[in-house]
Amino acid sequence: MKKAEAIEDKVWFDGNLVDLKEVRVSPLAYGLHYGWGVYEGLRAYDTKRGRAVFRLRDHMSRFLDSARFMQLDVTYSLDELCEAVKAVCRANGPQADYIRPIAYYGENGELGLSAVNVPTHVAVMTIHMGAYIRGGAPGASLITSSWERPSDLATSLTAKVCGNYVSSIIAKREAMRQGADEALMLNHNGSVAEASAENVFMVRHGKLITPGLSEGILEGITRDTVIKLAKEAGYDVEERSITRGEILIADEVFLTGTAAELHPVRSIDGISIGKEVPGPVTTELKELYGKVARGEVDSHSEWVDIIDKKVARRRKK
Ligand code: PMP
Repeated sequence: MKKAEAIEDKVWFDGNLVDLKEVRVSPLAYGLHYGWGVYEGLRAYDTKRGRAVFRLRDHMSRFLDSARFMQLDVTYSLDELCEAVKAVCRANGPQADYIRPIAYYGENGELGLSAVNVPTHVAVMTIHMGAYIRGGAPGASLITSSWERPSDLATSLTAKVCGNYVSSIIAKREAMRQGADEALMLNHNGSVAEASAENVFMVRHGKLITPGLSEGILEGITRDTVIKLAKEAGYDVEERSITRGEILIADEVFLTGTAAELHPVRSIDGISIGKEVPGPVTTELKELYGKVARGEVDSHSEWVDIIDKKVARRRKK
């Protein structure tokens, strides 16, 4: 599998755009020891009006909400954080298609969990990611992970907390060891929760069905986009629990995530899903999602935040 390319040169760190190599993370940082941090993942696309970040304000609002849950002291406003994302994208150029803001606890010379007077650091960086799920065949192969998705009684799944991703990593690694592309994770009731870094949808009896928020999932922004687009396209969308048996006999299954975008699933535990992959509903919604993210659908231009307008750049020359 091809790796994502190296992080680009510039990073926004605690309010300044600096070279990545100038930033030092202390080995004593709480963020490192305990996953005491929160992060976001955003994508940048080319649009007719210039390069743009998709659903920038929604991502950075979730970032601030996650930080609030972890009681991190992020002092930047939503506007400042959105501007920071755009500044890093401008600095790192069009190759930067994936943006990663992170806020984490630094060091105070101690390591106890009662941590007080610890500085919060905020960084925004970019990488070139390309496709996130890169299996050669059309559609991802999934295994059902033997690891349970943690419940909202164990942590907040609404917040995108760094430490929560231990669970995702062990599931994803389990899938990769078995030659699969992704892991489907079940919750403590045995119902479908989500994949390691994607929400899950299935098509059954002409309806689009996805686990509700109480099933132990991240409230995905791509999930929200797809629900809205599907309703506008005339589909019935249900948010309800899905059993393991039911998803295996679905007509179509797909994953949604900022990195994965909308990705069809071809098999779960070696069992083929549906008659064709991608199925017709997945194909329609995937195309629609691609158009919306690239600013080709006027009715959702509010989701497309232009980084650097082409017109403005041309005038400067
Ligand atoms: N679930 C998990 C556990 C994730 O990490 C992600 C990726 N952020 C998603 C779902 C999809 O969320 P989004 O569409 O907001 O990227």
